Amino acid sequence: MAKTYDAIIIGTGQAGPSLAVRLANTGSKVAVIERKFFGGTCVNTGCIPTKTMVASAYAAHLARRAGEYGVNIGGPVTVDMRRVKARKDAVSGQSRAGVEGWLRATKNVTVYEGQAHFESAREISVGLERLTAPRIFINVGGRAVVPAMRGIDEVPYLTNSSMMAVDFLPRHLVIVGGSYVGLEFGQMFRRFGSEVTIIEMGSRLISREDEDVSATVREILEAEGVHIRLNAECIALSKRGDEIAAGVDCTNGPPTVVGSHLLLAVGRRPNTDDLGLEKAGVEMDKRGYIAVDDQLRTSVSGIWALGDCNGRGAFTHTSYNDYEIVAANLLDADSRRVSDRIQAYALYIDPPLGRCGWTDAQVIGAGRRALVGKRPMTRVARAVEKGETQGFMKIAVDADTKEILGAAILGVGGDEVIHCILDVMYSKAPYTVLQRAMHIHPTVAELVPTILGELQPLIGATTSAGSAA
Ligand SMILES: Cc1cc2nc3c(=O)[nH]c(=O)nc-3n(C[C@H](O)[C@H](O)[C@H](O)COP(=O)(O)OP(=O)(O)OC[C@H]3O[C@@H](n4cnc5c(N)ncnc54)[C@H](O)[C@@H]3O)c2cc1C
Repeated sequence: MAKTYDAIIIGTGQAGPSLAVRLANTGSKVAVIERKFFGGTCVNTGCIPTKTMVASAYAAHLARRAGEYGVNIGGPVTVDMRRVKARKDAVSGQSRAGVEGWLRATKNVTVYEGQAHFESAREISVGLERLTAPRIFINVGGRAVVPAMRGIDEVPYLTNSSMMAVDFLPRHLVIVGGSYVGLEFGQMFRRFGSEVTIIEMGSRLISREDEDVSATVREILEAEGVHIRLNAECIALSKRGDEIAAGVDCTNGPPTVVGSHLLLAVGRRPNTDDLGLEKAGVEMDKRGYIAVDDQLRTSVSGIWALGDCNGRGAFTHTSYNDYEIVAANLLDADSRRVSDRIQAYALYIDPPLGRCGWTDAQVIGAGRRALVGKRPMTRVARAVEKGETQGFMKIAVDADTKEILGAAILGVGGDEVIHCILDVMYSKAPYTVLQRAMHIHPTVAELVPTILGELQPLIGATTSAGSAA
């Protein structure tokens, strides 16, 4: 006999727990199923542990630069990787315990540990248990892709998950993938003291960003001694004694990179292949992402998909926003939608990249008549005072409607400063509102109004109907 609930939630990522508690607090009986670590990717193998380690790497970097600030360290700076890992484990562990404790302590929530599997559109199995509910919410997240590259089965490799167990300093960390995850680990381990090579198939790093962002990020990493190999179209892996050789088909540089450890950072795939979705009739796309509408309903009535597994976002904040959308629709008679949100995220190298809205390339592609303001961080007093002047800030606006179209803040505090732009975008106010705001001195954000007062036509964008600058 199946146990009956009002709702079943599969996965305790960034949407599931909040939705479970919200539903339970309205009196619904809720079953929550988790097969591994409470809190999912962000808490255990993603944002929280990596940003905790980024903080350790930043401390090492600043300590090495201490003399520039007139501070004597009195010897070479070394990193104790076991303590770095212990600190990371403590921060991550506290968060994991918090999620689990919250769920278990909430009245009307029953927690099941194990692999959830659809038996039908209304029935889930977990171990020997059968659960049934009229509403099922899928929050199963994703995992690292292991690409079918030549030699992959012959060499040991790490992913973002197994990196969490590293409590030693790799002699030479070779990272395949020059995007967000690869760059964060790359700079971090370089700062810990490893030699690092990032191998990227494309012609530039983080190719979704504008070229000036990619180029500056590359300069920042190379200035710290990270080796970057681009245009690596054909990567072949093999054992070389105790080490790993990555054959790199590049136009320049040696054809083989030999490292002590290999990290794969080439993308993510949804955890939908072992969920039995076919028994429920839930539609997926070619890559396994669950198809959802603008309010996160799947193709089967009574089943929703939230977080990374629906392919509509790949961040903690998009998953949490999914929870807010579903809760608003079901409980608050508020028809919130995915399409209400504005793209926003950060890349946590140091200095960080804060991004919102469109890239310049997207603005140009959309045919908007646009203006852009750009300022190097060398002309931001707060950055100069802090001795952290790498990067730049830029903001694009529509020349006709005055709406802000997008921004990139690659510089100290960029992950925070971006929000003063993002919030004005949400308010749908013209950029002139932000331009006239009085900001606090000395901050990085105080230059945002200044930049908006120095706008120039965006090169490549339409200047009038049908022509380009
Ligand atoms: C290295 C790294 C760094 C990142 N840094 C950031 C960052 O700085 N900022 C940011 O916004 N995002 C970051 N992300 C992305 C972020 O971690 C995810 O977008 C976020 O965790 C949202 O995930 P989710 O809610 O979709 O599910 P997840 O957090 O992936 O959780 C899904 C849960 O479902 C469970 N599960 C899966 N299948 C089943 C099943 N069949 N039965 C039972 N349980 C199941 C899993 O065990 C897991 O606990 C990072 C990701 C990585 C890999």
